[in-house]
Amino acid sequence: MDTKIIFEDTAVKTVDVLVIDAHPDDAEISCGGAIAKLTSEGKTVAVVDCTRGEMGTRGTPHLRLQEARNASEILKLSHRINLGMADGFIDESPDSLYEIVTYIRKFRPKVILTHPPFERHPDHEAVNRLVRNAIFKSGLTKIHTELNGELQEVYRTRKIFCFMQSYQFERKPDFYIDISDHHDQKIRAIEAFSSQVYVVGNENTSEPTTKLSSPDFKEELIARARYFGGLIGVRYAEAYLSVEPLGICSFSNMM
Ligand SMILES: [Zn+2]
Repeated sequence: MDTKIIFEDTAVKTVDVLVIDAHPDDAEISCGGAIAKLTSEGKTVAVVDCTRGEMGTRGTPHLRLQEARNASEILKLSHRINLGMADGFIDESPDSLYEIVTYIRKFRPKVILTHPPFERHPDHEAVNRLVRNAIFKSGLTKIHTELNGELQEVYRTRKIFCFMQSYQFERKPDFYIDISDHHDQKIRAIEAFSSQVYVVGNENTSEPTTKLSSPDFKEELIARARYFGGLIGVRYAEAYLSVEPLGICSFSNMM
């Protein structure tokens, strides 16, 4: 029994896309549109949250787990895992690396999405380093990992993309994804974290105000998606970086 599972579709064993983030809500805020679009296309998506967000000013770890469960249903995720690492102190210790390798080998994703290398929250930068290191080690036959008492097979994907959260990327995004038809779903998934973000009706809470809980945060998020959408001639978009050089099969794919 894997106690780190907080949401799962037991019929799904491996997934098309694995999102690895630092805190519950990072995935929804940064790549919720792409996730909603993928699952609407019949693709399977799992999210691994490294921490429970226990250092957050508002809410409680228990509440954030419940919120993550609700958001997972809205985005139609197949799995949500919480590794229970120390919020604010994510490190690159062998234990942390083995944890990430274990879930990469469990889910065997074709694509991995994670934080970019330059971010406001130190945990986000730590997860970027941790995930890149783990992706490499996941492909090494001499790195042995077990899950539920079973030895795992090695696995490696070269398709690693970074989503944008607090800071702009240090260089131009490599591509944008049109999320126009899934933007409302993304906002609903973000609002599932009602202890963290502004939702109409929860203004009178006694909790302290944070950047995320002000109405400005959501306005800024929507404005950015609208701006990125405008760059590619659609209503809303999300920006991504590719860790490895990105190729296309033919110009035909663009026609
Ligand atoms: Zn975060």
